[in-house]
Amino acid sequence: MPLTDEQRQEVAAEQANTRPTRRATVPALEDILYEPAPVLDHGFVRVVDYMGDDGAIVQAARVSYGRGTRRVSEDAGLINYLMRHRHTTPFEMCEIKYHVKLPIFVARQWIRHRTANVNEYSARYSILDNEFYLPRPEHLAAQAATNRQGRGDVVEGPAARRVLDLLREDAERAYAGYTQMLNEDDAGNPVDPSWSGLARELARMNLSLNFYTQWYWKIDLYNLFHFLALRADPHAQYEIRAYAEAMLATVERWVPLAHAAFLEYRMHAATISATGLTVIRRMLAGEPVDQKSSGLNPREWRELMAVLGRESG
Ligand SMILES: Cc1cc2nc3c(=O)[nH]c(=O)nc-3n(C[C@H](O)[C@H](O)[C@H](O)COP(=O)(O)OP(=O)(O)OC[C@H]3O[C@@H](n4cnc5c(N)ncnc54)[C@H](O)[C@@H]3O)c2cc1C
Repeated sequence: MPLTDEQRQEVAAEQANTRPTRRATVPALEDILYEPAPVLDHGFVRVVDYMGDDGAIVQAARVSYGRGTRRVSEDAGLINYLMRHRHTTPFEMCEIKYHVKLPIFVARQWIRHRTANVNEYSARYSILDNEFYLPRPEHLAAQAATNRQGRGDVVEGPAARRVLDLLREDAERAYAGYTQMLNEDDAGNPVDPSWSGLARELARMNLSLNFYTQWYWKIDLYNLFHFLALRADPHAQYEIRAYAEAMLATVERWVPLAHAAFLEYRMHAATISATGLTVIRRMLAGEPVDQKSSGLNPREWRELMAVLGRESG
């Protein structure tokens, strides 16, 4: 359970608190506002604020005074056009703010996305909880043989148990050392009165990368789509993908038309090179084409055949 009883009560109090507004709100997103969606073993992602809706994208694109009397199909058509032609700024009119609890090694990948505003939990000021990530057995995989940046077959049996034991024992030992160095009881008094304890900013440095941190993360919709295209993709590491997939579900509630356009023209679409297009045209004309005659290198050939759903042999 990622939230304590006290934190749950705070969430419930926020949810009970409603405010009248003239601004656009989205009932489907209001329904889950503040509610943490569990991710991994102790993590979560929850929406804490947002600005705009599908209508805001259309309004900005048309620079109009109000919502007008257009039909949903017209808005969908315009949003599809904007997504297909890679327009940016209309999508930047919408913003969303998340509260995320995530392992430090996931945070290191996530923070590479420079277009968000981030405020992280301070382990200089506060004490980190004794919570660390342990992969579920089905996610305990060996190094991939073909892709140096990926996972291969699942590790099973005694080897899997040994790995999980090592991960748990190392994290527990690290946390025990951390609390020993802090030398503080729950009331903030020294456990061992013979010394003052180490500063929090120093004691934290022996914790392993699977310990959880938290942050508030605010981003506009255009850059969120860029993040999701990279991190909800099967090439992304499973752990960050789990967060991206939970966030995609919030985007579907928030801006259903833009979400559908994103799936259609980005997420499930493909970019084809000029040479790749020539290959497709030759195939459509009934010409036999193989990798050697295609002008593509073996990797590009495999990727194109995968996009076309054909054997690459
Ligand atoms: C599968 C995968 C594997 C990866 N492997 C590695 C790895 O091995 N090593 C590694 O170091 N990283 C790795 N990365 C991180 C990757 O290289 C990018 O740093 C990360 O995905 C952020 O992408 P971004 O810069 O497009 O995003 P953002 O920082 O969100 O930027 C969005 C866009 O804004 C523009 N932009 C933002 N800041 C600038 C700027 N200062 N100058 C110019 N344009 C800017 C760019 O157009 C950029 O695409 C990997 C990422 C993925 C998804």
